[in-house]
Amino acid sequence: MTSSAFPKLSEPLGLFGGTFDPVHFGHLRLAEESIAHLGLGGVRWIPAGQPPHRGVPQVTAQQRLEMVRLAMANNARFSLDPSEVEAEAPSYTVHTLERLRRELGPQQSLVLLVGADAFAGLATWHRWRDIFALAHVAVSHRPGFPVEISSLPHELASEFTDRRRADVSGLKASPAGGIVTFAMTQLAISATQIRKLLANELSARYLLPDSVLDYIQTHSLYRNS
Ligand code: ATP
Repeated sequence: MTSSAFPKLSEPLGLFGGTFDPVHFGHLRLAEESIAHLGLGGVRWIPAGQPPHRGVPQVTAQQRLEMVRLAMANNARFSLDPSEVEAEAPSYTVHTLERLRRELGPQQSLVLLVGADAFAGLATWHRWRDIFALAHVAVSHRPGFPVEISSLPHELASEFTDRRRADVSGLKASPAGGIVTFAMTQLAISATQIRKLLANELSARYLLPDSVLDYIQTHSLYRNS
């Protein structure tokens, strides 16, 4: 028994995956507000590798990673995990969680952060039920995507009912298995909207950090031609 082999982390660790194509203030506020709402020690951002179905990418996974790096600059509570971007094959969330479990040990509380739209699709994820053995799931409200049992597919609704915890302090008491919801500042910003604006040569300022916008302009990303 060598619990000391693992880093001592008493506070739950937030894990925030996404395509971040590009990262925007909706993502940043979700990560920032989750720390206080859920009592997290920090948030590890995990940009996804290139999804196989997207065809020829307009923006590479490395560029999406770089934009997240720029966006999180100077926030000591944020860290960046490049493993999915650097993996040769597309990685599923459950595999990433298994790797983090091995890295951080069985006691560390892990909290997978998802927006309400992503949560509604959870039952389509690879080995989705196994996720609850590896992490808690925290669902943030997002404009246009109410977190309501009636709008969830049946099998996810029943997991939600069984696992839901009203009190976020439960996230610290166990390493995995609960579902909580939290209300964040509602920002109707999406990466889709930003890509459309940029493709039409319209301003995307104040929807995402200037540093990210500068990177997009320098590298001529998200242009139609
Ligand atoms: P796209 O428009 O390309 O689908 P997106 O803006 O939804 O992208 P993703 O990278 O797909 O961004 O999202 C990563 C995570 O952040 C998901 O869990 C998603 O639900 C959440 N999220 C994204 N934007 C917001 C927002 N404005 N408010 C709350 N959660 C958000």
